[in-house]
Amino acid sequence: MSEIKNILLQLLFALSPFVVYNIFYRNLEINYSRRFILITCSFCLILSMIFASSTAAGFIFDVRYVIIFFGILFGGVLSGFILLGEFIAFRMYIGGAGTLDALIIQAITFPLSLLLGSLYHKMRKKHIITFIAGISFSFIPLIALYISQPNYVVSYFSFNILVMPVQNSLGIWLLITLFNKSVSDKEFYLKHIQNEKVEAINQVAASLAHEVRNPLTTVLGFLKLIRANRFEREKTERFIDISIEEIHRTEQILSDYLSISKPPISIQQQIDLVRQLTTVVEVMTPYANMNNVSLESEIPSSPILIFGSPTEIKQVLVNFIKNAIEACTDIPKARVGITFHVQLQRVQLLIEDNGVGMDHDQLSRLGSIYYSTKSTGTGLGLTYSYQAIRSMNGTVTVESEPRSGTIFTISLPLA
Ligand code: ADP
Ligand code: MG
Repeated sequence: MSEIKNILLQLLFALSPFVVYNIFYRNLEINYSRRFILITCSFCLILSMIFASSTAAGFIFDVRYVIIFFGILFGGVLSGFILLGEFIAFRMYIGGAGTLDALIIQAITFPLSLLLGSLYHKMRKKHIITFIAGISFSFIPLIALYISQPNYVVSYFSFNILVMPVQNSLGIWLLITLFNKSVSDKEFYLKHIQNEKVEAINQVAASLAHEVRNPLTTVLGFLKLIRANRFEREKTERFIDISIEEIHRTEQILSDYLSISKPPISIQQQIDLVRQLTTVVEVMTPYANMNNVSLESEIPSSPILIFGSPTEIKQVLVNFIKNAIEACTDIPKARVGITFHVQLQRVQLLIEDNGVGMDHDQLSRLGSIYYSTKSTGTGLGLTYSYQAIRSMNGTVTVESEPRSGTIFTISLPLA
């Protein structure tokens, strides 16, 4: 019974990097770093050695091979050596009759880990390497121990033959498969998020081209009139003024668009929400016009300062406004409204539409990855936006009624 307890405890330590990864990287838009692997492995290694199971004084059994091998696989060779150093130092500090054996076994298993680690990255059938590692780390220590201390191995035979192989094989197999699964899910998600942004920007770009043509046509018409030279000076000047204004407006739309289509850089800084929203509304207006939706925003005259990344907040606003526009494309007198409410420490941004709305079931699935009711939807816009808002310590609430409309309320702390 106590052996099973020990095995379970050690498996918990072996799985800790996977668990910590899932907690820590859950809301981050990046994948794990080597430093993360090294730090978690260092902790797990120490914990697993402190709470190791032991039969005779000086002999301890933990998941060191699992953690060091995992450290090499995902943290690189340097992490492996640092973990090795940590292991040697701590094992010598614990001391006891098994110390020398432990170091000798490590002298065999560590180079083997390096070799298997490099094979793992080259081979296609990675589970074979995982299997070989599990078997090697179970039986190499056992055989080495038998050679140097046969009496010890025989007197605790059942423990040695059960605990070591189960702990190591199961530990390696579970940790590597689960961790790989999480990492590839994350990679898949990050890639899709990127595609979703490109998709949203492409759709907006199509309507933008249309919007840019109008002022150009106006300016062209004026230039022709001026060239014909049939007007008095005052009127000609008026034409020139209008043309300059139109060109400025076009330039503004284009530069706003460029600032949105830039890849997001997650640099947190103090930003003016009003300015970001103005930019986004400029860019989204053509998209609204194309869909026969009137986009109305009540933009305050004074700045509202929040803390966040400008590109991220713009992407979030684009996502919500785009959804609102898309929700009312087939509605007569379609309208999307944006309003601000500043309270004590927070600002609330309301994005309201009179579109199709959502029922209870749809509302409960909102923000889940890949949930979309549109034929060309990706179901990633809100997933991304919810995460970004959460990372700014903000919240999102939604009220919706089928066939009558939706209100999204984004609440963010003021800087
Ligand atoms: P996508 O827009 O690609 O479908 P999103 O994550 O942006 O993905 O939105 C997910 C789903 O949430 C949409 O497909 C839609 O069903 C619903 N939704 C989002 N915003 C609104 C809204 N303003 N009105 C009605 N439904 C909405
Ligand atoms: Mg969307």
